[in-house]
Amino acid sequence: LMLMPTDLDDFIRQYRPVLEGEAETVGVRFTLTAFSGCQISIDRAQMQQVLLNLVRNAVEATEPGGEVTVMTGQRTGSAFIEVADTGRGIPEELRSQIFNLYFTSKEDGTGMGLSIANQIVQSHGGVIEVESLENRGSIFRIVLPRS
Ligand code: ADP
Ligand code: MG
Repeated sequence: LMLMPTDLDDFIRQYRPVLEGEAETVGVRFTLTAFSGCQISIDRAQMQQVLLNLVRNAVEATEPGGEVTVMTGQRTGSAFIEVADTGRGIPEELRSQIFNLYFTSKEDGTGMGLSIANQIVQSHGGVIEVESLENRGSIFRIVLPRS
């Protein structure tokens, strides 16, 4: 783990073209709001991997014309990055399994993305929170300690 002091908003803005590309090539709108003002200590390459995995999942859950939104923010002592989609949501009975290695509901899925993302975020002392409403969408929130 190569932890580097990082401005969260600058970090996300620099990576924006990659995330935006994932969405817009399949007709999903992409919005970024990054005004947290937070400084964090992260392994940037690993955190890019986390974001890419979450945005790919968000795009894959969303029909063309839908929307994926990435937003940074802060709470007391922590910073967060939300990846929200207007997609299909996660059925109640699958929610306890989505972070398991090799769990996938997709025909061509590997079931590795969330497991890897969760390990990386935990190694930073953070957590991934999930909120989801079936047929409405999901929010995956990376919560990290603030420096
Ligand atoms: P994969 O994408 O290869 O299926 P992941 O570990 O990335 O594996 O995700 C595991 C499962 O979690 C997915 O197959 C899907 O069922 C569910 N999932 C993850 N993100 C979302 C999302 N944004 N909306 C709906 N379901 C999701
Ligand atoms: Mg995935």
